Amino acid sequence: MMISNSFGLKADAKNFIYIDALNDLSVLDSIDNKRLLILGAGTNVLLSNYFDGTVLAVRFKDIEINDDFISVGAGVDWANLIEYCLANRLYGIENLTHIPGSVGAAPIQNIGAYGVEISSFIHSIECFNLKTKKLETMTNEQCQFKYRDSIFKLKDFVILKVNFVFNKTFKPNLSYPALINFLEDNSIDTSSITPRILSDSVKQIRNSKLPDPKIEPNVGSIFKNPIVKTNNFDDAFLDGHRWNQDDQYTKLSSARLIELIQSDISIPDTLRFYENHSLVLINNGGASFEEVIDLLHQIKAKIYEKFKIELEIEPEIISL
Ligand SMILES: Cc1cc2nc3c(=O)[nH]c(=O)nc-3n(C[C@H](O)[C@H](O)[C@H](O)COP(=O)(O)OP(=O)(O)OC[C@H]3O[C@@H](n4cnc5c(N)ncnc54)[C@H](O)[C@@H]3O)c2cc1C
Repeated sequence: MMISNSFGLKADAKNFIYIDALNDLSVLDSIDNKRLLILGAGTNVLLSNYFDGTVLAVRFKDIEINDDFISVGAGVDWANLIEYCLANRLYGIENLTHIPGSVGAAPIQNIGAYGVEISSFIHSIECFNLKTKKLETMTNEQCQFKYRDSIFKLKDFVILKVNFVFNKTFKPNLSYPALINFLEDNSIDTSSITPRILSDSVKQIRNSKLPDPKIEPNVGSIFKNPIVKTNNFDDAFLDGHRWNQDDQYTKLSSARLIELIQSDISIPDTLRFYENHSLVLINNGGASFEEVIDLLHQIKAKIYEKFKIELEIEPEIISL
């Protein structure tokens, strides 16, 4: 059986298991954690052609609601949660509309877009600890959320359910420049914007900038935007392509850095950067894992050589 992944890489595994009920977790007692790959929708992974171990999928699909507190199974589609919130007057994640993937994977890299990160709405996470082989509930603080990061990257936990607390009143976050520009260009009044219009606007912006993985296989942003200490770095050449985080740190645009070195690297015919967004790498068809990794390493090396900036690959690279 092939492992489904949005980059369209051909990948198989020795074994596949599905968690549909808590009892199913007992299979993990006899599995080597180093040979375990937990997968949701496969939209943030780059896979080599064979995983010599077990691929596990959590298929909990329940959504339980108690006032502003909702508990959502890891197997629920992210898009369904967005719709559920809109229908139930729970607010806050409109800016995260149209991010592909599952609810269980959302906390892993603390998904974010248009000035909002999911960690602001996570109350706690119910998981299975692969080291102690016990169920555990992690508080928001224990999850150690940061920009595209959390404790779950250590791979010690299978996320089963995510507990959220959403806003009961709609307070739109319209701080992100691309979002404000879109609303202005489309004469949408920000003082009377509704959650549905905000969500639809985000969807439209994303559709205009990001390729649909079903048509143009990709994993979204291929690198994280690097955050550098403002005083240690002369970033004037990135004017218009950097965002102050606070007094000490600046986030730089990886897309711009890639544009600046693109003529110095060789890109195989099977791959290309998306015309509307140079941080999105596309599989033109038949790209191999080795070609992708080679290209990403070339880019990292060139950007380091030219600007002394260390880029970090965003999707998880899986080869075993
Ligand atoms: C077109 C496109 C646009 C995107 N835009 C954004 C964006 O704006 N912002 C953003 O943050 N991301 C974005 N992404 C990345 C991706 O959508 C998110 O990271 C998403 O949360 C991945 O979900 P998934 O179910 O596909 O995870 P997978 O790719 O299946 O897995 C990702 C990671 O999570 C782990 N994992 C998955 N499920 C579990 C679980 N139940 N328990 C423990 N670990 C688990 C996996 O082991 C892996 O390490 C984009 C991707 C694409 C293709």
